[in-house]
Amino acid sequence: MPRKRGSRGSTSRSQLIEETLISLDRSRGPLFHEKDATAKGYRPDGQRDPVRCRRPENKMRISELEAIDIARAFSEKPHLRGKEGEVLQRVGRSLSFIGDTSKPQRFDCPLLEDGKCMVHRIAKPIECLAELPDGSFSAEGRRSLERRDQLNEDLFAGRWDFKAIPLMLAHYMLDREGPANGKSGSTLRKEQKRDQSRRSTRSHDPRRGSGPVR
Ligand code: SF4
Repeated sequence: MPRKRGSRGSTSRSQLIEETLISLDRSRGPLFHEKDATAKGYRPDGQRDPVRCRRPENKMRISELEAIDIARAFSEKPHLRGKEGEVLQRVGRSLSFIGDTSKPQRFDCPLLEDGKCMVHRIAKPIECLAELPDGSFSAEGRRSLERRDQLNEDLFAGRWDFKAIPLMLAHYMLDREGPANGKSGSTLRKEQKRDQSRRSTRSHDPRRGSGPVR
């Protein structure tokens, strides 16, 4: 018998998705740090060269988990709210150039707006972030890519894939009842940090005393 919505099974599944999105967001941290520390060859704002985000250069594919993260960001980040329609229009245009396959294909990324990535600091695909200016990957970048793959594997147990960004966005941005419904990894991580810091402040509060002597 199918489980009812909100039953224990669906709650633990949605908790698992949230924990996985937090881990995905955590794996972006070292890559931003690397960009800030190295600086050489990167744009001052740390963005990918927009030429590489358009045809004929761009063939970027993303995993299911990254697409879920991006779709969630568009539904809850204040500066992205209301922009879903224009992104979906660009998704539609890009889809007219590519087929429904997991093979790399060339396309204009629908997330490029005025030369900048719309999800840069919030839900950026790991490969876009890990790519060095010469197109290669550092050891840190490779670690984050492996981590991304492992997180997808843990969540989808072999039933996941990489596809061109427009294909993945069309799937998840148009399915608001599925896993794309909820908060993005960066928001969840901020909330988790805030809760942890509140708990640690409370545990160091002298007014709470040192507890019973055993
Ligand atoms: S997700 Fe962002 S960085 Fe990656 S290809 Fe699209 S616009 Fe470029």
